[in-house]
Amino acid sequence: MTNGNPETQDVRTISNFLRDQIAEDVRTKKYGDAEVQTRFPPEPNGYLHIGHAKAICLDFGLADEFGGKTNLRFDDTNPEKEEQEYVDSIQADVRWLGFEWDRLCYASDYFGQLYEWALQLIKAGKAYVDDLTADEIRQHRGTLTEPGKDSPYRNRSVEENLDLFVRMKNGEFPDGSRVLRARIDMASPNLNMRDPVMYRILHATHHRTGDAWCIYPMYDYAHGQSDSIERVTHSMCTLEFTDHQPLYRWYIEQLGIFPSQQIEFDRLNLTYTLLSKRKLLQLVQEKHVSGWDDPRMPTLSGIRRRGFTPEAIRTFCAAIGASRTNGTTDIEMLEHFQRDDLNRRARRAMAVLRPLKLVIDNYPAGQEELFEVANNPEDPAAGMRQVPFTGEVYIEQDDFREVPPPKYYRLSPGKEVRLRGAYFVTAQSVVKDADGNIVEVHCTYDPASRGGSSPDGRKVKSTIHWVSTAHAISAEVRIYDKLFTKADPGDVEEGESFLSNLNPDSLEILNDAKLEPSLASAKVEERFQFERVGYFCLDRDSTAGKLVFNRTLPLKDSWAKIEKKAGG
Ligand code: ATP
Ligand code: MG
Repeated sequence: MTNGNPETQDVRTISNFLRDQIAEDVRTKKYGDAEVQTRFPPEPNGYLHIGHAKAICLDFGLADEFGGKTNLRFDDTNPEKEEQEYVDSIQADVRWLGFEWDRLCYASDYFGQLYEWALQLIKAGKAYVDDLTADEIRQHRGTLTEPGKDSPYRNRSVEENLDLFVRMKNGEFPDGSRVLRARIDMASPNLNMRDPVMYRILHATHHRTGDAWCIYPMYDYAHGQSDSIERVTHSMCTLEFTDHQPLYRWYIEQLGIFPSQQIEFDRLNLTYTLLSKRKLLQLVQEKHVSGWDDPRMPTLSGIRRRGFTPEAIRTFCAAIGASRTNGTTDIEMLEHFQRDDLNRRARRAMAVLRPLKLVIDNYPAGQEELFEVANNPEDPAAGMRQVPFTGEVYIEQDDFREVPPPKYYRLSPGKEVRLRGAYFVTAQSVVKDADGNIVEVHCTYDPASRGGSSPDGRKVKSTIHWVSTAHAISAEVRIYDKLFTKADPGDVEEGESFLSNLNPDSLEILNDAKLEPSLASAKVEERFQFERVGYFCLDRDSTAGKLVFNRTLPLKDSWAKIEKKAGG
């Protein structure tokens, strides 16, 4: 099945340079008989977003393909920004996406070992305590075109460095007064190699280690060594770490420990979407959204609440693969995979979002019928259900026009349409309120069209959905649109913030939608296709007396068009 359509293609055949490299390392036994070991290393300073899903699918998916294992490791070296709430949400999200880790690890579990290794580097003359301020260190660092300058403290004796570092650890010095630096090369063309900071003093309470430490390792010193401790063979990360790779290798070589290797791939960028925990946190804190799981957020908990499925996200991630250059992916592509998945699996239902009453004048008073309809025409196994019909139904306001514009084929006076699965009806007259708004449409039906089939071969141009007024359940429906108005939400005038690109119409609440009665038993997160309207799922704000549905996506798929235009 290689028709170029990723949904039907085995994901393992989609080219991906990471897969090729791992296959090569396995073939050449680069790590002997050790199995492929990867890790997913989030910092618990926010909720996971769709960009993380890409990394998760690569870390877990590739290890799994090669019979290897993946650890979930919290990169918790910044006590000031990290919280248990984030640790919990990250675990829930990884599992929801469909992955289970081998070991659950924390960089903070390695603080003791990292400290021992720092002492080892000091003793080898490879690290020193620097008393320069952060500003001075920056000034000494030089630029891309100028070499850096040695710190006056660079040539301290091993004894003095050991003494100062132990005292840093013991809490004798205030925050920011000293740092431990690797002693590498202040003239290196790579700025990361100009005596990078290894440890800083921070009298902060850590979410796991409490007040046990007042010095904390920097990312570069912690990450590679943590990989090495876990015997990670392939440490995949995003391209912005490419310039850090020499430092990653330097620490491992100096310490002579397990040679984990870092491999960089492209970060996921999506149009109309911000994927930065810092900015997402700002949206939450400033209440531009209702929380990390607001259905407009690109967080996994947000798109989950919106109705997205882990299956579709995984298919999307497989289709985008991984490359060595950054680019931007159309949000429509993600939506396309989601629609495709929901089209195959979501149960159909009739729901009228903006109701207009349709009265069938010649339908026998008090009569009630049950019509059998398919739960999902794409999936016969989904079975059938019964929908009650009476002489008074709700239809969408948009499905009636008193004065139809050209090419309007839905209901209008004198025109006949099909009520899905029920009868042909012809509009006859309208009832208006004092302000001239149409409040009721009156029509007649053709009893011979029972079940919605044509009695004599005559054709109707439209089939519209309906809900019996006597049986309808009222619900709130939340219609979501893009959170940002610009394809690149970060594109702003000087002095403006990305907030100026927020879409003021990203949420519309419909308070009086009318649903077919079978939806009364919907469960939170259960997904439906409301016929002719879109995909929806039940929100957890629902109560026994009031259902709340979120619109996942409208039906229209613009990706197919984009793909066609691109010649795909
Ligand atoms: P952010 O900038 O959103 O805070 P981050 O890279 O700081 O993201 P981490 O918690 O450090 O977030 O990320 C954990 C892993 O997920 C890292 O390996 C990182 O490279 C990867 N990752 C983060 N964002 C993306 C993205 N947009 N696309 C692909 N991988 C990503
Ligand atoms: Mg980070």
